[in-house]
Amino acid sequence: MSEEKLRLLSKIVIKGKILCVTGLRIGGPRVGLEIGGLDNPVVRDPVTNQPYIPGSSLKGKLRSLLEKSLGLDLTTVVRGPPKIRIHICHDEEKSKKCAVCRIFGVPAEKAVMPTRIIVRDATLTEDSIKMLEAAETDLPFTEVKWENVLDRITSAASPRQTERIPAGAEFDFEIVYNIYDDVDKDYLRYVFEAMKLLEDDYLGSSGTRGYGKIVFKDMKVLERTVEYYKGKEQEKVLGKGSYDSVKDLIDDFAKIREML
Ligand SMILES: [Zn+2]
Repeated sequence: MSEEKLRLLSKIVIKGKILCVTGLRIGGPRVGLEIGGLDNPVVRDPVTNQPYIPGSSLKGKLRSLLEKSLGLDLTTVVRGPPKIRIHICHDEEKSKKCAVCRIFGVPAEKAVMPTRIIVRDATLTEDSIKMLEAAETDLPFTEVKWENVLDRITSAASPRQTERIPAGAEFDFEIVYNIYDDVDKDYLRYVFEAMKLLEDDYLGSSGTRGYGKIVFKDMKVLERTVEYYKGKEQEKVLGKGSYDSVKDLIDDFAKIREML
């Protein structure tokens, strides 16, 4: 355990919209015991009944894409179900230089690296709520697809109902990134890179069958220093202010970094 003191300098808030280019399915708990219950419901907010993108799904995907792009070894098994393998540096000095350990943290028992990133649940935008209500979808805000699933052993096809959020829906997202030192400022770039990787990958399930293609849009990057939280400073809008795409953010990274 490290005795080193960490002092928060500022929080970077990246906010904007996630557009579903294709249908999106992030599975929720099965409620199929009732007659006519869906085989594969999407996750919904129990209060509003609206589908949403859990921050944990978005964060997990960003982490795994960054692990792969950096060619890190995936040795630590996170108990499931389903069991997944993730990368963790077991050496403290290594973990400080490792973008994945620095940004996403290492488990509490090793507590040398606090998680820098916080990914909020993304909720449907007001416009998308109106659009989906007007579209009179199969279920509130979602569509239901019949799909044939092949049994891997018998090759028998069995039809299954799958619920998904229709293409065109948009969600408000927010990612917070904590800055403790200059390396964190440099590594903000990896957060943008992971977002770009996700655009060429997929969110949720059935990505290889075309689901879950998303793009980030209408973004802003804000810096809130500790002085801001004391009410002594305003938040700073970084870079050129608004960004249409992640590529735009990456292209402008030098300017954003300069302002930190
Ligand atoms: Zn690492």
